[in-house]
Amino acid sequence: MLPSPRGTLFSKTRRAALLAVVLLFLPAHLLAETNPGNVVCRSELAVERREELASKLRKITGWPNLKFDLSGALRLGTNPVGGSKTARELLSQVVTGGAAVVIEDASQHADVAFCQVLPAKWKSNLQDPRPAFVVQVDFADFENVIGDTRALQAFNVGWGLLHELDHVVNNSMDPNCLGEPGECEAHINKMRLECGLPVRAEYFHTYSPLTMNSTFMSRLVQLSFEQEQGPGKKKKRYLVIWDAELIGGVTQDRKIAALR
Ligand SMILES: [Zn+2]
Repeated sequence: MLPSPRGTLFSKTRRAALLAVVLLFLPAHLLAETNPGNVVCRSELAVERREELASKLRKITGWPNLKFDLSGALRLGTNPVGGSKTARELLSQVVTGGAAVVIEDASQHADVAFCQVLPAKWKSNLQDPRPAFVVQVDFADFENVIGDTRALQAFNVGWGLLHELDHVVNNSMDPNCLGEPGECEAHINKMRLECGLPVRAEYFHTYSPLTMNSTFMSRLVQLSFEQEQGPGKKKKRYLVIWDAELIGGVTQDRKIAALR
């Protein structure tokens, strides 16, 4: 989803490049553990973090019994109550799809802002190995944002994971220019609408206007969400704000910060 360390963007081209040069090696036993659930937590991912992620996904999908089982595999729910049908479809596609997805806690990684997905490679020489991806989630970053309640409901670890899974399943792209959400976030925005939440108005975050007048506040950035207030009425805007130096994702020229 989320801020790219050096302003690079996740794209089809970049994904192909990453496949060639960046390989996260995964122990082969995870391959077995991802059957039949294709989404599995690394053993280092604390139980509390797994539950935090599951609770956000329960809220978004409406599946009251979605969970990570004792082996760390994601188990989808049944009999949804409200929630987003599109999110349920995306998770179902991941779990029944051909790729394995491993979730990793990247809260200590300075180069990960919020979330990112990287292609991975199995350590052992397996015959016909399944494609694998690692979704790195910086839980700490999500704890360091402030803003409007409605915007914060539309921007949390659950939404971050869904964004990365959409890249995996749909090979969707993020935009290259300011002021639009892009293909991937358009999919995620459909889910937000189904949950009655504001949609993300832009893919890139920008410096907060407060930064123009204050050295002290010079590191604040903001991300805009918006929601229709009714036919013919102006959209209401909601903001998520954070300290870019703390979370990362600021380009060197400091004009914009990129999210991937
Ligand atoms: Zn992205």
